[in-house]
Amino acid sequence: MKFDIDTLGIIRSPYKEKFAIPRQPGLVTSARARLELLPPYDQPDVLRGIEQFSHLWISFVFHQTMAQGWHPTVRPPRLGGNERVGVFATRSTFRPNPLGLSVVELHGVGRARGKLWLELGAVDLLDGTPVVDIKPYIPYADSLPHARGGFAPDAPTPPLSVSFSPQAEQQLAPWLKAHPELRQLVSEVLAQDPRPAYKKGKPDDKEYGVRLFDVNVRFRISEPTCEVLAIEPAN
Ligand code: SAM
Repeated sequence: MKFDIDTLGIIRSPYKEKFAIPRQPGLVTSARARLELLPPYDQPDVLRGIEQFSHLWISFVFHQTMAQGWHPTVRPPRLGGNERVGVFATRSTFRPNPLGLSVVELHGVGRARGKLWLELGAVDLLDGTPVVDIKPYIPYADSLPHARGGFAPDAPTPPLSVSFSPQAEQQLAPWLKAHPELRQLVSEVLAQDPRPAYKKGKPDDKEYGVRLFDVNVRFRISEPTCEVLAIEPAN
């Protein structure tokens, strides 16, 4: 069977590229996003009652990687990027049907200038992600504290300690007007150590860059620390 599925809305998030997006929602609490509903779903009736829920399930399309297809096995970063496991034993973006599922915070509903949106928190979603379904998270059914986590252990890896160089501090200040959460976002995103698995656990003098909102953040990692070197306008 083939199905036609409509895009219900589009995510507007600070993550402008895949690199450095957390691997799951909830890991970077300052990552706020908007889910803008598209016609004909942009009518307040479809959201009636939704504000009674603190969290939502968002089904979405891995639109940026879908053209690359899929393989029966993948190498999850959790296993160091070397060991292969079945695609259905992972949350890899490279799947037969490129669908993602994230549980995110609901901060409210917004409506202005003919647009209707949901304010979301702690997302792991790229800017421009097409959303195909929205459902409330129901704690009694969805929370399973005794479930086994397989090779994805309960605790996330210990965070890096992030500091800002004097130059980065100076460059950060003017951006805080437009993005008051930028310092926390940069700190939380980099604390996750966004480098590929093969770079970890050994000396690394490479300078990395990541785009958040409209800024490019340059940084270097010397485990267990990360220094933000510069915060510059993105091209
Ligand atoms: N929580 C979801 C799930 O389990 O289905 C996504 C997990 S997936 C491992 C998370 C990664 O998806 C992020 O780190 C980011 O690199 C990637 N990602 C997020 N939005 C995407 C999009 N629209 N297209 C392709 N990749 C995306």
